[in-house]
Amino acid sequence: MNQSEQLFQRAKAVIPGGVNSPVRAFKNVDGDPFFVKSAKGSRIVDADDRSLIDYIGTWGPAILGHAPQIVLDAVHQAVDRGLSYGTPTPVEVDMAEKIVELVPSVEKVRMVSSGTEATMSAIRLARGYTVRNMIIKFIGCYHGHVDSLLVAAGSGALTFGKPDSAGVPREFTQLTLTLPYNDKEAVTQAFKKYGSQIAAVILEPYPANAGLYFPKDGFLEHLRQITKQYDSLLIFDEVMTGFRVAPGGVQELTGLVPDLTCMGKVIGGGLPVGAFGGKSEIMDKLSPLGPVYQAGTLSGNPVAMAAGLAQLQELQRTDAYAHMEAMGAQLEDGIRSALKKHQKDYTIHRVGSMFCLFFSDEPVFDLDSAMKANKAEFKKFFWSMLEEGVYMAPSPYETGFISAAHSSNDIEETIQAVHKAFDKTFN
Ligand SMILES: *Cc1c(COP(=O)(O)O)cnc(C)c1O
Repeated sequence: MNQSEQLFQRAKAVIPGGVNSPVRAFKNVDGDPFFVKSAKGSRIVDADDRSLIDYIGTWGPAILGHAPQIVLDAVHQAVDRGLSYGTPTPVEVDMAEKIVELVPSVEKVRMVSSGTEATMSAIRLARGYTVRNMIIKFIGCYHGHVDSLLVAAGSGALTFGKPDSAGVPREFTQLTLTLPYNDKEAVTQAFKKYGSQIAAVILEPYPANAGLYFPKDGFLEHLRQITKQYDSLLIFDEVMTGFRVAPGGVQELTGLVPDLTCMGKVIGGGLPVGAFGGKSEIMDKLSPLGPVYQAGTLSGNPVAMAAGLAQLQELQRTDAYAHMEAMGAQLEDGIRSALKKHQKDYTIHRVGSMFCLFFSDEPVFDLDSAMKANKAEFKKFFWSMLEEGVYMAPSPYETGFISAAHSSNDIEETIQAVHKAFDKTFN
């Protein structure tokens, strides 16, 4: 047994499934995970000293690549000043000012410790502010493991969902309407029927948790217009896209201004950080000013704030976004040529440093169409890539991430690996 296999044996004895978050278990590719002992730049090194080009970037946060010196320095300095005080600290003010500067819709922001906490708190705030109970979410959008958001579609567009996890009481999901993404008509019907009871619509403005797909023309505009019309709130969950597709997220790219925004991943620089923010009038309903309770012992932790702030400042200071766009374009072109060689007209989606190859030649615009991709081909592709030293997400329903540390040589090496992997996958 190699080191990873030994570690997985030990892990399975004491951790459910051997992992602390399910996607890490490699269930979608019918295999066992490897263990990582270190990471730097575009590469991770596993417990058996195998070096891999990494396109997961710890599922989004590592936008500057792994362990960037500027973030490490900030963390080392913060650690020397103490780990946590449970009092206000200067760096959390710097962080809040930075977020308000970068994210168009945010006038005030509250820090939390994960994306899940951000969406959970934003939903509570929306309900408290509007004094309404119902929310709309979209099938295929992931918002963390919040009870009322772990809801699968009901049997019809206007029926309430059912729990998507054991342990979530049916009653908890009775206030969540789940609709197909990109279906304007379903949204209109839902508001016609329940409009005065709907506190908020929450969505990933670019869904990136069932592969990566995009809103059709007018979909986000429709959501903005109809929520305004019915005095409901529009919540953008930009935990994945925030500071990633642009400094100000999808709202910067589209010019659409949500009422509340959820953030996470990139703002922590690899440490556990989330945040939610929006208009002052809404945010001021939070305790201690308002009646909506929300709190956290480690919220705004000074080490985590230092890491995240250093990462955001470095993104602003450098040409990281332009570089990632160039690397993304190079990779996309390479994959397209490799597909062409095999006469495959498969769907590739990309925005800047985020990309997804669907093993399907049909357009992908919601969960149903994403699920049509060929899982068997994906599995072969995934393992072949790993053999060639490239680590792609171990699931056909995940987005790939390029970092500012990926070089043109990394991309070229990856394209060579794609050619070899396609030869095996399609023959
Ligand atoms: C990752 C993610 C979350 C959950 O964040 P955690 O930090 O894992 O709790 C929520 N929403 C979106 C869009 C995400 O990608």
